[in-house]
Amino acid sequence: MDIVAHSLWSMVLLPGPPSVAKVIFGIAPDAAVFATSLTVQAFKGKMQPGFKTRQEMMEWYDRKENRWIVNLYKWTHSLIIWTLLLIPLFAYYLFFRDQVPWFLLAAPMHILMDIPTHDNNSFPVQFLTPVSTLRINGLHWSKPLVFIGNYVLIIIVIYFRIFVLRK
Ligand SMILES: [Zn+2]
Repeated sequence: MDIVAHSLWSMVLLPGPPSVAKVIFGIAPDAAVFATSLTVQAFKGKMQPGFKTRQEMMEWYDRKENRWIVNLYKWTHSLIIWTLLLIPLFAYYLFFRDQVPWFLLAAPMHILMDIPTHDNNSFPVQFLTPVSTLRINGLHWSKPLVFIGNYVLIIIVIYFRIFVLRK
């Protein structure tokens, strides 16, 4: 799913007002990979090439020197890794700061939304890395119906939140 949709979903589904923290955790699984990859490319003095098609993009990622990006993506899209990372943070906010840190849940939510919206041809989500290579061949988020349906759903939920829940 694109990062705009991830950001919006984090803000509309999690309790409390919209916040930067929700957006940061909502895009973290992708941002961690692509920021690292862009930094590495910059150090190598190479620009990441522009891709005309998704297939062209996947071929680039499939090159030997770029496979680590796909691997890193598996780790940042693992529910197991995020659970291990977030439990201590969650406990800290809960017990020492007396707050429920809803924003932390934006990251696992990102993964749950990516699982059915990626397919085997384009970054399938190995959400149980490193325990299992289980992945789902879903409907890719860039397919027009999925893309439009996703934003329609976001608008419906925003409407519901503002006018029905009034918070
Ligand atoms: Zn993602």
